[in-house]
Amino acid sequence: MTKSRKPSDSAGMRLRNITLVLRTVQAERQISQADLARRLGLARSTVLAIVDGLLELGLLKEQGPGISGGGRRPMLLTLDDRAFHLVGVDIGAKHVTVVVMNLQAEVLARQHRPWQAREDPNGTLSLVEELIGRVLSESRAGRRQLVGIGVGVPSPVDARSPGHVSPVVMPHWAGVDIAARLESRFEVPVRVENDANLGALWEARWGHGVNLDNLAYIKVATGVGAGLLLDGRLYRGSRGVAGEIGHLSIDNAGPLCSCGLRGCLNTLVGTDSLLVRAREAARGRKRPAFEKLDDLIDAALAGDAIAVSTLDFAGRQLGLGLAMLLNLINPALVVVGGGIVRAGDLLLAPLRETVAKHCFSENFSHVRILASRLGESSTARGAATLIFDEALENPSAFFKGAPRKLQLGN
Ligand SMILES: [Zn+2]
Repeated sequence: MTKSRKPSDSAGMRLRNITLVLRTVQAERQISQADLARRLGLARSTVLAIVDGLLELGLLKEQGPGISGGGRRPMLLTLDDRAFHLVGVDIGAKHVTVVVMNLQAEVLARQHRPWQAREDPNGTLSLVEELIGRVLSESRAGRRQLVGIGVGVPSPVDARSPGHVSPVVMPHWAGVDIAARLESRFEVPVRVENDANLGALWEARWGHGVNLDNLAYIKVATGVGAGLLLDGRLYRGSRGVAGEIGHLSIDNAGPLCSCGLRGCLNTLVGTDSLLVRAREAARGRKRPAFEKLDDLIDAALAGDAIAVSTLDFAGRQLGLGLAMLLNLINPALVVVGGGIVRAGDLLLAPLRETVAKHCFSENFSHVRILASRLGESSTARGAATLIFDEALENPSAFFKGAPRKLQLGN
């Protein structure tokens, strides 16, 4: 590549424009070439050349004519759902889920197994490899169509050792390079990211937060974490532990947390803590105890007073943590995710009420607090989205055939 081309390097500029075109189509779902040019402030000939390359490569397809503003009806462009596939892996504390997703974010195949991942990295990665093999054959996705593999983990990921989980949360995984292992097996790029961050990314690209630059995703599961999208980018902090709201100490006299503090949000509303709380309240009752989170939610939805008050408690404690988060980062949107959101307003009403009481009013009056539509599957889909996101920034590294068809060298 020649240096210092004026006014700026044209190949770099072209790459940037390709990314902008793809991102705009993703956000709008379908859009005409003329609208793309208008929206991006680019010459129609520039957009035409880029779109031709993207159509040939299989990243875009023509969807059919849209509504005319007078004259010929414009052809609408959309992301192509055929040529490329993304794999998303969710390694949870108690499960492994793998999906294959197309470029329109539709899940083509899914595999899910209950699994204790924390103490068995080798067994877990063998299971991940097996499940990836299964979803690829179920979806009939050829290896050539596979763009990459995203992996969500219930742990911070430190940018200084990408591909690894933090040994602080999962000590048995110290030194395990998840990305290197899966890359050598499947021969595609692999990225590893914290699960709550992936929830935030999903919401920003496909969910409630499309076109928003500032949002938070709160994942409530075995632990509680927040994924933060600030000024349009995931915010990880200097060591990858930004958003660990599970360790906000809400109650100084509360239970001892694994981190050494007392009354952390994790010890109050983490799934296991909630179940212990509900069982204690129900001790002596004839009805069976709450074995799983689903039992608790089912009972609450059926009007069981103990289950309802346990979820109310969870909503209020989460609300205290969320009020602090809102005052710090002032997002336009907070999405609450994890299996618990199936409880709907039994959780969200006390949560919103508590946030309203404890948050700076200017902040609260402009934030929407919603439940994720995906519930539990947001991490795997978010992981697939992470690969897509990186591929949009650098198409030639991810999409086979891209350099020639997009003429990236010119
Ligand atoms: Zn803690």
